[in-house]
This record gives sequence, structure tokens and C-alpha cells, in this order.
Amino acid sequence: MLSDCLFCKIAAGEIPSEKVYEDGSVYAFRDINPQAPVHILVIPKQHVDSAAEISEENSALAARCFEAIAKIAAAEGLGSGFRVITNVGEDAGQTVRHLHFHLLGGVKMGEGLL
Ligand code: 5GP
Ligand code: ZN
Repeated sequence: MLSDCLFCKIAAGEIPSEKVYEDGSVYAFRDINPQAPVHILVIPKQHVDSAAEISEENSALAARCFEAIAKIAAAEGLGSGFRVITNVGEDAGQTVRHLHFHLLGGVKMGEGLL
């Protein structure tokens, strides 16, 4: 855990969040500023800066996140579809340097990403 990382603190329960899912390696909670009717952040409990730091050594953490995403999407009733986004670095507008996947759904989204 990084002592100055917001999402490490959220995963550890030191900062409150609206939890939707938790297992041994993944924590998921509702985004404080939702961009869709369902907007959930899915994070590995272990700190990884971003998707740019996923490697052979830690890629199981990303796999665990996607296993959780499938379960959460089903539990949230997103059978008609959803979108998963991860921002990396400045150009993508990553504001929290702890790997997180935005799970967005509950609305018909446009085809474009930008
Ligand atoms: P990024 O821009 O880094 O891809 O996404 C960071 C996300 O974290 C944003 O959507 C923002 O609304 C969300 N966020 C930032 N601080 C908090 C917080 O303290 N609690 C929750 N639940 N979400 C947060
Ligand atoms: Zn962290």
C-alpha cells in the first residue's frame, strides 16, 4: 500500500466509499462523480500505477479485475452492454495514479470514444 495513494486508502477502508464488490485482490466502488447511470471503479487492492505498469509479474491482478467486472456487470443488470475504460497518464487524463477500470453502463452510449 502506498501511504499517499487515495485508492489504496479506499481499498483499505481508511477513506469511505460506496462498495459494490470486494474479494481477496479486488475492490470496486461507485465513482464519486458518475458519468453514466452505472459508473463503478474496479481496482486491484495491490498498488499498480496504471495499465502501463502491467507486466508478466502482476498481470494476474488485471485478470482478477476483469473477472470482477463480469460479475459486477451481471449484478448491476448490464446484460445489454457496458464499457470498460482505463486512463493512462497525462494525455488520457488519468487523475488518480492507482490502476482503475471505469465500468460504465445503464445508458445507450455513442460509438465514439472521444
Ligand atoms: P481517472 O480520471 O484517473 O481515470 O479517474 C479517476 C476517477 O476517480 C474519476 O472518475 C473521479 O470521479 C473518481 N474519484 C476521485 N476521487 C474519488 C473519491 O474520493 N471517491 C470516489 N468514489 N471516486 C473518486
Ligand atoms: Zn494505490
